[in-house]
Amino acid sequence: MTDQPVTPCRRCLLMEAFPADYRKYVASVLATLRPDRKTDDETYRRRLAACKACEQLDRGTCMGCGCLVELRAADRRQRCPYSKWI
Ligand code: SF4
Repeated sequence: MTDQPVTPCRRCLLMEAFPADYRKYVASVLATLRPDRKTDDETYRRRLAACKACEQLDRGTCMGCGCLVELRAADRRQRCPYSKWI
């Protein structure tokens, strides 16, 4: 076992690179979202799949707007700055 830090790949979502820590962080942020503002599961998966295929994604951050995509995609009011998902 090594103590070297994990460097996520450019196309990684942060949930994939840091599953336990980041999922806990995302869950804590999403818990603050009003239920009527949360994206449904299918839409959330579709949005993140578009981000994973997007040239603007860099280690979980959208270089088009600077957001953490796993948080932005969870809010149904949000939109992709390049209209790759709504
Ligand atoms: S929010 Fe839009 S532009 Fe940004 S990474 Fe996702 S698909 Fe790409």
